[in-house]
Order: sequence, then C-alpha cells, then structure tokens
Amino acid sequence: MNEKAREELAKYRQLRDEVSELSEKLANLHKDQMACKKGCSECCMNFQILPVEYFAILDELRKNPPAQYRELDDEAEECNFLIDDLCQIYASRPFICRTHGLPLLYMNQGAMPGSYRLVR
Ligand code: SF4
Repeated sequence: MNEKAREELAKYRQLRDEVSELSEKLANLHKDQMACKKGCSECCMNFQILPVEYFAILDELRKNPPAQYRELDDEAEECNFLIDDLCQIYASRPFICRTHGLPLLYMNQGAMPGSYRLVR
C-alpha cells in the first residue's frame, strides 16, 4: 500500500470514529425507541459499502484476522462476516452497520434542494 492510500485510510478511520461516536450518542438519546440489540442480525444483509470501506476492512483483516470466518459467497443474502448472529469484524464494520436503525435525516435526492427525508 502506498503512502497516499495510507493517508486516505487514516482519514476514513478518523471519520469512522466520529460517526461511531455520534451514532452512540444518538442511540442513547433514542434508547427507549431503539429495537437494535446484541444478537439481532436482521439488518445484516443486502447492502453495499464504499470502496474505501472495502480497503479498510481488507487491511484490518490482514492485520487482525477474525477468530471465525466463512468462505465468501457472492450469492448469499446474509453478510459473509455474520456467524452465529454475531459480527466477526465489529471494529471494522462499515458506516451502514454503525448507523442502521438510528433516526437519520438524509438529503432527498429527488426533491427540491434543501428538502430532507426522515428515515426511521
Ligand atoms: S459487517 Fe457485521 S454488522 Fe455489518 S452486516 Fe456484516 S455482520 Fe452485520
């Protein structure tokens, strides 16, 4: 990995930490309404990640392989890192896994500029 790639991964990891911190605060604020809990994996399927997330996960897997893993299966609906309803790459999980279930506000791409859509 070259120096530029290392710098970009470092920026991504810093952003990932900030997203995690904000997600934890948001989850705490809404803990009475949150259905997410350890052992629930209903959301661990059918999602996409950013290229930088892919390279970060790959880099972290090389340095710290999970205790358990299964062969990658492109046809599987369930995430390949899910084993016995537990995430095997929890520290490396992508943004979508860190923010799923939270009440988030997204820019609505199909609407007028400045309009927003509340998700969950
Ligand atoms: S990376 Fe972990 S949290 Fe995210 S979908 Fe896969 S098993 Fe679930």
